[in-house]
Amino acid sequence: MRILVSNDDGVYSPGIAALAAVGAEFGEVRIVAPDVERSSAGHSITSSIPLTCKHTPLAVDAYRVNGTPADCVALGMTQWGRVDVVLSGINLGSNLGNAMWHSGTLAAAKQGALMGARGIALSIPAPTDEPDFKALGPAVREVLKLLLPEQALRLVNVNFPHEHPKGIRWTRQSVRLYDGKVVAGHDPMGREHYWFTVQPITETEDGTDRWAVEHGYVSVTPLRLDLTDEPALARRASASAEPAPTD
Ligand code: MN
Repeated sequence: MRILVSNDDGVYSPGIAALAAVGAEFGEVRIVAPDVERSSAGHSITSSIPLTCKHTPLAVDAYRVNGTPADCVALGMTQWGRVDVVLSGINLGSNLGNAMWHSGTLAAAKQGALMGARGIALSIPAPTDEPDFKALGPAVREVLKLLLPEQALRLVNVNFPHEHPKGIRWTRQSVRLYDGKVVAGHDPMGREHYWFTVQPITETEDGTDRWAVEHGYVSVTPLRLDLTDEPALARRASASAEPAPTD
């Protein structure tokens, strides 16, 4: 199995080293990741400047790219040829609920899925200290053992809890509230500026990714690539099928 490993925290993040180390137990691993942190880059791609791809001495075969997470996966898959699975992470910070829309970690896995591989994004909370990736190793191994044989799963979003996980839960994306909030402040020169931040969400629905992580489980959310609102499409289609009024 050929496994391309990427992230949005940059090629030197401890999270990508931890993921590549466990991934190497399951197949041939190559890292292709951004040369600097590109968190919250979403699925942006670089179309106006050329990309460079430089060999990088790490424990596994690794390259760094002056691009976004999606660039890295597109470039890595094109250069390497056949890739079976793209693993992205392990991100320093959860990617739960609506954070999936701006997550660069998930975008890297999604780019893999769009190009015909399977994509798995993995994240862990990192509120203050760096997570203990050595202690997390067995949980990462369990998740990969569960997901790698599942050929039908094209894109999966995995979130680890902060503490040692109690188990794994299959979940859906929490979408009730958006956690984006822009806070005004002042810089040292007294000029007004704004920081994009999060707003704590108090209400958590059972069965969602956020619920699982808050209750100490690994959250595993299968995702689809087709964003079509099926009920809305069906309503419009049936409305259009009605005979036109005659007079
Ligand atoms: Mn990140």
